Amino acid sequence: MTEVAPTRASSGATQVAGLVGWPVGHSLSPRIHSFWIRKYRLDAAYVPLPVQPGHLATALRALPALGFRGCNVTVPHKVEARALVDEESTLAGVVGAVNTIFVRDGRLLGRNTDVDGFIEGLREQAPGWGQSDRRAVVVGAGGAARAVVAGLRAELDGEIVIANRTLTKAEDIVQHFDNARAVGLRALEAELDGAGLLVNASTLGMTDGPTLNPDLAGLAADAVVADIVYAPLETELLRTASRRGLATVDGLGMLLHQAVPGFEGWFGVRPKVDQELRKHVLATLAR
Ligand code: NAP
Repeated sequence: MTEVAPTRASSGATQVAGLVGWPVGHSLSPRIHSFWIRKYRLDAAYVPLPVQPGHLATALRALPALGFRGCNVTVPHKVEARALVDEESTLAGVVGAVNTIFVRDGRLLGRNTDVDGFIEGLREQAPGWGQSDRRAVVVGAGGAARAVVAGLRAELDGEIVIANRTLTKAEDIVQHFDNARAVGLRALEAELDGAGLLVNASTLGMTDGPTLNPDLAGLAADAVVADIVYAPLETELLRTASRRGLATVDGLGMLLHQAVPGFEGWFGVRPKVDQELRKHVLATLAR
């Protein structure tokens, strides 16, 4: 990694944001934000805030009193945080989760940045994506899949199909979106026929877990295959798609881009997602 300048010494006016979760040790967010703080030579800090279940309200209410600019919210608090912020964005409501909070005039503003993070990751790694009206197929119906579907719905006119092991969870999501349909995971390959985009937004493909490896023969020749899993970065699904000559998008783009609005809102600098940051975070993933 290229060495970045050391951060300025804390002056007593250090701007602080943090990551509220339980546990928080595994998260890559401190690595991303600390990199940008050093890069832009800010008098700022991003700190892990391990908050046990049952203590979220106390922790969030303390942020203004402690002078925090805000925080990220991660597992298991993203849903509960919705009820604790003073104001929630429309997107956070659609996704059903708050992952970023800004403190403004003593009030807590809740946002969800996964939606734009996913779309920015697609734009970066597959610039021509979404130019056709072909079907988009999303695998998974958890919190991440909701963000993916919300992002796709805002960008695409064509049909979105959600394929999930538990059909009722996919059915629950499609109620909130136009031109969306739910199917069980067994119907996945049939839905890929002529589709222009396949996104894995499930946990399938994560290191040491079961993989997702459907026959991709039916996908359109110019289809894009995206996987939001980032450990490993190259999943079995992406390997198969590459072998077929399809454009692929890995999960790191979403992870890095979702961090941008938080950093900008807390510290006043819009940070860049570039190769240097990617390498820096990849070095952690490889450990
Ligand atoms: P979640 O809410 O726990 O949802 C998990 C999803 O995976 C569900 O749809 C579940 O199906 C499905 N699933 C799990 N095990 C399965 C199996 N054995 N067979 C078939 N389906 C299975 O998780 P999440 O928060 O949405 O996260 C999903 C993935 O996205 C994770 O790998 C996470 O790391 C990744 N993610 C990446 C980013 C990024 O920035 N790149 C951001 C957020 C999340 P059921 O409904 O049937 O249980």
